[in-house]
Amino acid sequence: MAKYVVLLGSPGAGKGTQADILTKETGLAHISTGGLFREHIAQKTELGILAQSLMDKGEFVPDDLTIAMVKERISRADCEQGVILDGFPRNPVQADATKLMLNAMGSSVSVVPYIIVPEDVLIQRLSGRWTCRNSGHVYHTMFSPPEKEGICDLCGAELYQRVDDTVETVKKRLRIYMERTSPLIDYYRKQGKLVEIEGDQPIDSVTKDLLATLKK
Ligand code: ADP
Ligand code: ADP
Repeated sequence: MAKYVVLLGSPGAGKGTQADILTKETGLAHISTGGLFREHIAQKTELGILAQSLMDKGEFVPDDLTIAMVKERISRADCEQGVILDGFPRNPVQADATKLMLNAMGSSVSVVPYIIVPEDVLIQRLSGRWTCRNSGHVYHTMFSPPEKEGICDLCGAELYQRVDDTVETVKKRLRIYMERTSPLIDYYRKQGKLVEIEGDQPIDSVTKDLLATLKK
């Protein structure tokens, strides 16, 4: 049966990093809504143009556009075995839409690993994050540096610092996370799907804990 994993955690918790690794280990597809929006921005689509101004300010893209984008992405062939959702759902409206979407496919959310990281560590991680312009792979100047400065190990493309990773915007995004996304912790806990993961550990230790949770 297909597996649908919702990776929960604040910006900087390591969702993208872990989802990338888990995809290789499990064969599940990785759906990152932030990553999909950044692809739209790079291709200058209508959605990309709208999303960019909101994302740069650390604000959410409207629910209807985000939900429609995920619905289209999740229906593709590479999602047949299941998916890891990273950055979606981000509020209760999107969580209800996820339920409907998966029910319509005869399925439901399997498990919700919640990656917990203290706020000072999150700020340190986000302010040192560098992202590949081509693959979207993320690095950190101190914790996960590329072999060659400014260059992606995987594809050789240029790394850049996201406009929304400045300290001021990071603080705003963490505030919005607390207000709008953190209610999902209780939402999934009540359904018995939440599993707490200690996120303030080396990358491979977090992966180990996540893999153990997914195998259950
Ligand atoms: P998210 O997708 O939750 O916003 P990322 O996966 O982009 O988080 O990680 C944020 C930053 O922290 C990146 O620069 C990444 O390299 C780094 N990072 C991720 N996990 C860890 C970890 N366990 N320890 C140290 N740094 C990490
Ligand atoms: P991070 O990994 O740091 O949490 P993301 O890449 O997930 O950042 O998201 C970057 C930005 O993209 C968000 O600040 C928001 O503007 C937009 N975004 C991503 N996912 C969603 C979503 N599910 N709903 C609305 N906006 C979103």
